[in-house]
Amino acid sequence: MKTLAIDLDSVLADTMLIWIQEYNKRKKADILKSDIVSWDISQVLDIAVEEISQIFTDIWQRHWRKIPPTEPNIGVTTKKLHERGFRISILTKRFRPSVVNVAKWLDLYEVYSDDLLFIYDDRPKAEYPFDILVDDAPVNLMNIKQPKLGILYSQPWNMDFIWATRIDKLSQLNLLI
Ligand SMILES: [Mg+2]
Repeated sequence: MKTLAIDLDSVLADTMLIWIQEYNKRKKADILKSDIVSWDISQVLDIAVEEISQIFTDIWQRHWRKIPPTEPNIGVTTKKLHERGFRISILTKRFRPSVVNVAKWLDLYEVYSDDLLFIYDDRPKAEYPFDILVDDAPVNLMNIKQPKLGILYSQPWNMDFIWATRIDKLSQLNLLI
């Protein structure tokens, strides 16, 4: 059975939509998700790196119910992938305090998973046991070696990254793998 690892932020959960709402509120700004055209947010916005992660922590702590899925029917899509014979592993790097709410969020949207892996340190995702990884972060895909496969989930901040296997919707996985 092949393991399909799926990233959480910006692949299942559209975290940046709420991140931007919070940023706009704090800075009295008016930016859109499509304005974040660099992986390094501090390159496109006037904000310190610490505050970037502080907002992430805050929204997962206080506003997690407002975080929408990236696309409709993520529950059905993940279940279908499982029924096609994939072991579904949610693989997410994050701060310890958000773990409980992440689990609640996955239940709220009935995301199917066979395991849930939280990475607290800097161990590269490529070293985890999976056959296929879907992620929006180029840095997580770059070290993946064959026979493992890295699939890039399109977001405004990765459009310039040249990568062979890219999807715009998780449901496209059913045609690809
Ligand atoms: Mg991500």
